[in-house]
Amino acid sequence: MNKVYLILFFSFFCLLAAISSQDFRWYKGNTHTHTINSDGDSTPDEVVRWYKEHNYQFLVLSDHNFLTSVDGLNSIFGAKEKFLLIPGEEVTDSFQGKSIHINGLNLKTVVHPQHGSSVTSTIQNNVNAIRKVGAVPHINHPNFRWSLTAEDLLQIQNNKLFEIYNGHPSVQNLGGGGLPSLEEMWDTILSSNKLIYGLAVDDAHNFKGEFSSSRSNPGRGWIAVYTYELSAVAILDAIEKGNFYASTGVSLSDIQITDQHIKFTIQESPSFKYTTFFIGDGGKILTKRHGLNVEYKFTGKEKYVRARVVDSMGYKAWTQPVFVK
Ligand SMILES: [Zn+2]
Ligand SMILES: [Zn+2]
Repeated sequence: MNKVYLILFFSFFCLLAAISSQDFRWYKGNTHTHTINSDGDSTPDEVVRWYKEHNYQFLVLSDHNFLTSVDGLNSIFGAKEKFLLIPGEEVTDSFQGKSIHINGLNLKTVVHPQHGSSVTSTIQNNVNAIRKVGAVPHINHPNFRWSLTAEDLLQIQNNKLFEIYNGHPSVQNLGGGGLPSLEEMWDTILSSNKLIYGLAVDDAHNFKGEFSSSRSNPGRGWIAVYTYELSAVAILDAIEKGNFYASTGVSLSDIQITDQHIKFTIQESPSFKYTTFFIGDGGKILTKRHGLNVEYKFTGKEKYVRARVVDSMGYKAWTQPVFVK
């Protein structure tokens, strides 16, 4: 399976190169945000304005069980200003007190919660309903109310994305009390040979009043996607192929993945220092690097390799995993 992934991965990059490498660039975006159409405090217009003014290029408005129309917003913000709104929804379901929230990206029609007879069937039914209308699912905040486990996520088919960081103050990203962090869950899933990509998102609700760690303000988690144009199709194709990194504040460039190595450059903030951890099977740290230009050469013994960059203020970036053998 892993060889197949690697071949597909390289075929994809060859295809990209054929289209024209100079048209490719990074687009910064957030796939999880709320407005007054559910429990956010601001109108869609105000929310879009915040992201536009903070140098994002795309945004998904993902209200609970409500599809916020983006046509008008795209004509206001998109035409001259190069900002893309991708229509979305947070399909908000539950099973016996467990919160099951699945985002649908690029939805044309609202998807109602599908329910199920177990946690996993509830997740799967919602993922299937999102896929059925041609949209892209992502599984949200597994540790919110300690709802989803890595073992649950391992059973889900047809889903390639889940949140490894969510900026809402009550989602328990780091685990605790014997329960795993979202990053530990990620390694458990990858170590079981299931390829899943990790997203960082805001899940922002509060654009007004005080910005503090106890409120769900914007600007905390995002992704940067490497693709050929700012369109929903290009962005989502790239995301589902893992051509992005997730971040809470560290920016990367020149990510190169060949059959020999992973290599990238960290964008320096003045006086910040950076440590990069290359991580493999079982969440084991394969090696640690300092500095701005980092490289990991595959030995051939790894199952998968991914990188976590941590800066001297604790902000992070995560590259997507590559299966090596
Ligand atoms: Zn949620
Ligand atoms: Zn949400």
